[in-house]
Amino acid sequence: MDAMDAYESALGLVGGTPLVRLRTGSAAAVYAKLEYLSIGGSTKDRIGLRMIEQAEKDGLLRPGGTIVEATSGNTGIGLALVAAEKGYRIVVVVSDRVSDEKVDTLRAFGAEVVVKPAGLPRQHPDHPMSFAAHLARATPGGWLANQYDNPANPEAHYLTTGPEIWRQTRGRVTHLVSCIGTGGTISGAGRYLKEVSEHSVEVIGADPASSVYSGGDGRPYFIEAAGHFLHPDTAEDVWPTSYHPEVVDRIVPVADREALDTLRRLAREQGLLVGGSSGTALTAAHRVAADAGPEAVVVVILPDSGRQYLSKYFNDSWMLRLGFLDGDESAPRVADAA
Ligand code: PMP
Repeated sequence: MDAMDAYESALGLVGGTPLVRLRTGSAAAVYAKLEYLSIGGSTKDRIGLRMIEQAEKDGLLRPGGTIVEATSGNTGIGLALVAAEKGYRIVVVVSDRVSDEKVDTLRAFGAEVVVKPAGLPRQHPDHPMSFAAHLARATPGGWLANQYDNPANPEAHYLTTGPEIWRQTRGRVTHLVSCIGTGGTISGAGRYLKEVSEHSVEVIGADPASSVYSGGDGRPYFIEAAGHFLHPDTAEDVWPTSYHPEVVDRIVPVADREALDTLRRLAREQGLLVGGSSGTALTAAHRVAADAGPEAVVVVILPDSGRQYLSKYFNDSWMLRLGFLDGDESAPRVADAA
């Protein structure tokens, strides 16, 4: 009997995302990798699957076990959908900076969500990472996914994201632009593309302007999930081992306001509704493309969907309140248009 044209489970729909050409003012071609079209809605499905499967192989996660992770949301969602499909319990620890939409999505996938205050120093027992580590130790059968220091994170992108981009561009990609959160995406996909290309693909990190990756002072910024900021009382912070700085050729800092403007325009002008870090990455990609020649093929990774931030970046009151929008820049209302 012929096999049916269907996937065996949701797990077959992790990754495998398309590239779409964007209109920019530059001669260089810019292609966006739409990670929101992965089944759980972000690039983090890839690492959710890979980290769980590796933990199963290593005997760290057994049937009846509990997955624990501190996350800005998307990794939790990736882990939660895989946990649901495989029948694991999952507890996700988030800070109260994470959007309501992400928390609701986690709960919809059956995850237990613990919300902790943002901005605590890393050593504080209620910092999401400290709390998650404690919870995993205290729970029988508990396993901490630990995306910041789990080699399966960059590996997922080395094995899937990088090869997809190489195939999709027929080996013509010249620049890769990606945000850096844990560093898994840029380190894994970047390493693969450098290894496979004779012309050595240039790898560019896009970073919220005050984030420490681009030499900022670590002040908080409003783009969720990208970059790295420091608590003012913490003299030093731990850099994730999922980030391999030697793969990154340069880092472009992007101010929140510019990222948000790029992102809101992309939805209105090109029909692509993407998240805040996509605005950061795309703003950096525009700069890279403007400086590159007409033969350049710039691929920019857009990690998740704007639907997760309708109450923030696409909400004019939120934007006005935080000073990201002057009154006259907001979307025309029906009453205004009449
Ligand atoms: N953008 C979004 C929306 C994310 O969820 C993440 C992952 N935290 C990133 C960017 C950064 O990706 P990475 O952790 O692979 O560096």
